[in-house]
Amino acid sequence: MAAPERKELESTQKMKAVMGKYFKELAAGPQAGTKTAWCTSVGPAELLRALGFNVYFPENHGAMLGATRTATDLIPAANARGFSPDICSYLTSDIGSYLMNQTPLQKMGMTGPPKADVLVFNTNQCRDVKDWFQFYAREWGVPCLGIHTPRAIGDLGDSIIADVAKQTEALVAPLEAVAGAKLDPARLSEVVALSKQCTDLWKAVLETAASMPSPITFFDGTIQMGPAVVLRGTQDAVDYYRVLLAELRQRAADGVAAVPGERFRIYWEGMPIWGKLRSLSEQFAALKTCVVASTYCNSWIFDALDPADPFASMARAYSSIFICRSDDVKEKYIGAMAAKFKVNGILYHDAKTCPNNSNSRYMMPQRLQAKLGIPYLIIHGDLNDLRLYSEEQARTNIEAFAEQLAGA
Ligand code: SF4
Repeated sequence: MAAPERKELESTQKMKAVMGKYFKELAAGPQAGTKTAWCTSVGPAELLRALGFNVYFPENHGAMLGATRTATDLIPAANARGFSPDICSYLTSDIGSYLMNQTPLQKMGMTGPPKADVLVFNTNQCRDVKDWFQFYAREWGVPCLGIHTPRAIGDLGDSIIADVAKQTEALVAPLEAVAGAKLDPARLSEVVALSKQCTDLWKAVLETAASMPSPITFFDGTIQMGPAVVLRGTQDAVDYYRVLLAELRQRAADGVAAVPGERFRIYWEGMPIWGKLRSLSEQFAALKTCVVASTYCNSWIFDALDPADPFASMARAYSSIFICRSDDVKEKYIGAMAAKFKVNGILYHDAKTCPNNSNSRYMMPQRLQAKLGIPYLIIHGDLNDLRLYSEEQARTNIEAFAEQLAGA
């Protein structure tokens, strides 16, 4: 029997409403007397929310600039200011957007990103986020605070957790000074509990892709992850993922495929190519190949969060993420994902301006192919700077990869 044709996810309209409400609240913050904290995407959002800040995530804005394909025109403005074209293109497109006063947020009725009262980074992902936030701190004369997490972590020992937890606790006093309010430990536990519920639901959403056929693709995931990134720690995110999960479980039970006629299943390693999500999604669909799982979407799963022990558990959660781990840990992780999602191959995106999230440069694909016995493909591109992506070459290579899988 032929698989039922796929319809768009009904939940997506609800997600758009939830995200719209978030941006409205951000815009209304200053008039409402609510302070704004900028936070890195895998930073201590729970602490900021518990202190009553509106929390804004510039990486989300970077992704918007990529997805709307405005990034490539904005990056040169940041380059002219002195930021190299070789560094993070989220950073250069976001700062370019600021310098040129052009942002997709203007189409949503906002004048631009909300001005920060304080910026809080975590170097668990890269150093670029610190440089990025410091630029705005200098521009606006506001504090820039942060957590310096070690990178390439093998065993996540107690000493690392203790250090990162201590650094997080040390943020409390300066943040209270900006917020003009004392941290309520009960409120922090409550926010961590909501964040944990959000993360558990997001994980369950992604795990529906283990069904064959999968009811969701990586490309859907990059859109559906919005609330997990910007609204974790809120009831809105929890409520949304309950609805989405129910819809996906129903689709899995009914055999509704994200890619009708699914023949092959791929793991996507590395950053999305934001400006090409649609064309890549269409190409994979035409090849009856479903990108079922990715390191990227999984990066907002924080199993370790525990409302009974907020600081230590935040430290553990934010130091466990894939990007700050050693290659040995990363390979074990990808091996487990390949087995869980029953993938036929792995695609590595080597993103020119994000070495931190590109894992094909030190022989990982070759080592994993030898261990797992499944083929790989490396495509060269970038998250936001489409001048670094040769679409024709990538499309040809993807097509050849599907043929290789068919012949395997
Ligand atoms: S991890 Fe990569 S994409 Fe993300 S902020 Fe750092 S350099 Fe940019």
